[in-house]
Amino acid sequence: MHQLIKNLKHNFFQPNKEAKPPYLAGKMRFFILLSLLLGHVYADNKTTLFDFRFWTSPERTRIVIDTEPNVRFSINGQKNQVVLKIKNAKLLNRTYKKLFYQDQRIRKTHVKRDKNTLTLTFKTAKNYHLKSYTLKPNNRYRHHRLVVDLMDKKSTTIKSRVTPNKQSSKVKNTTKIILIDAGHGGEDSGAIGYRHSKEKYITLKIGKKLAKKINQTLGMKAVLTRRGDYYVGLTKRIRIAQANHASLFISIHADSVKRIGARGASVYTLSERGGSTKFARDLEKSQNTVYQFGTSETLIKDDQYLNKILWDFSRKDRDIQSQKLGFKILKRMGKIGYLHKKTPQKAGFVVLKTPFIPSVLVETAFISNPEDEKRLNNSKQQDKITNAIYQGILDYYK
Ligand SMILES: [Zn+2]
Repeated sequence: MHQLIKNLKHNFFQPNKEAKPPYLAGKMRFFILLSLLLGHVYADNKTTLFDFRFWTSPERTRIVIDTEPNVRFSINGQKNQVVLKIKNAKLLNRTYKKLFYQDQRIRKTHVKRDKNTLTLTFKTAKNYHLKSYTLKPNNRYRHHRLVVDLMDKKSTTIKSRVTPNKQSSKVKNTTKIILIDAGHGGEDSGAIGYRHSKEKYITLKIGKKLAKKINQTLGMKAVLTRRGDYYVGLTKRIRIAQANHASLFISIHADSVKRIGARGASVYTLSERGGSTKFARDLEKSQNTVYQFGTSETLIKDDQYLNKILWDFSRKDRDIQSQKLGFKILKRMGKIGYLHKKTPQKAGFVVLKTPFIPSVLVETAFISNPEDEKRLNNSKQQDKITNAIYQGILDYYK
């Protein structure tokens, strides 16, 4: 029960596929009709733009606008500018300032209003590939959303993360690349804590601390799947691991359930045959139904390249290695805090399906538990958690 709730909470992707109960649909129709009728009386008819969020990642800037349903817009990009026109849009004083975001791609923003159209002109550093789509509300976002992506033309993301190895191949072979995946990011806040802290910030803090420790270790090098507050698709996280020839894949998360008493750390490993418990199976199901803001990501199953690799490697050995790594990390985590589960749990998260690479997902603690949440936000405690994971990695290699 709790596990099902957790499932929903943990998985921010809420594809809008649940059908509305018929009575609701009827009710909605009534309201739409009513508002259409009233529209003529109180001729406001405007599409309110409630809020703006901008997310900068190494490969794109994502603009998210909270809107009313059925927003009518057009988007055009050329000559170092992106022009977004929205029909009958109404800006709010309290969020207006947020429009003037600047980063490496957006230099300046002009706002022009005429009778029927709001024109937002973003002066940009270069010309970008543009992608736009709308999303319906979900359990995390109560408004409809208009998403515009400004994407770099030459996708350098995966390649750029591979630091050219100037060392001889002999040295190269002995350097262990540890992929550190800070869960969630950007529009995907992850779980929300008892006192409203967001999982995405905690995972990034611990991820960065862990990367730093690893980079100070001789013969090891850390690569992060994200370095800031932006979203990275789940399959992309796997590709980053592959492109970097990672020897381990460690995904950092914080757990959440409705029952606030639940606390402590747990570790998940990939299982080829699916989850070992009902919960793991549910989790797997939800995590594998991956929707990136409404766009379905390519699952490994449908990916010829990944599929081929999956066939080629020894699954059994990788399972054993992931289990071993999971045990080592849990043992260390148990020394600094409470364990929610004393053995590694099996689940088939997409993010863990990294061919060849022993992979674990560490649920550092329960963000839904007030005490755990406090720990997760405390820098000293984060250091302890980081160190436990780090020591677990060293133990694994011993
Ligand atoms: Zn998470």
